[in-house]
Amino acid sequence: MADCLFCSIVAGDIPADIVLSNDDVVAFRDIAPQAPVHVLVVPRDHHANVGELASDAPATTATLLQAAQEVAANEGVGDAYRVVFNTGAGAGQTVFHVHAHVIGGRNLEWPPG
Ligand code: 5GP
Ligand code: ZN
Repeated sequence: MADCLFCSIVAGDIPADIVLSNDDVVAFRDIAPQAPVHVLVVPRDHHANVGELASDAPATTATLLQAAQEVAANEGVGDAYRVVFNTGAGAGQTVFHVHAHVIGGRNLEWPPG
């Protein structure tokens, strides 16, 4: 999709620190990490949010969550991490290409802010 930051990263037009890549998803480090481990996992295809992804591409949704687990394990936080999908501007979504935040490596409080 034109003018989509994460489509540009998937296409390789904008550089990113990629930690995992397969036919369906790409994972790369967040440019402004909120924890020692902060990786974004995105589908290669453009979907605006996790609800649309789940409806339109359930197999890719499962692949994305498997990738999130793999990233967490590879980063050494597989026993304590958080997967976050901010959905909608009011919930803090700023990039409208669905992405799972995989966050770990520090104490994660509940409820989140
Ligand atoms: P959201 O606010 O939509 O849930 O998350 C978007 C995330 O993308 C933010 O955590 C932000 O730091 C990250 N981000 C924004 N621009 C870039 C970029 O150019 N490269 C990378 N790697 N992350 C970005
Ligand atoms: Zn996109």
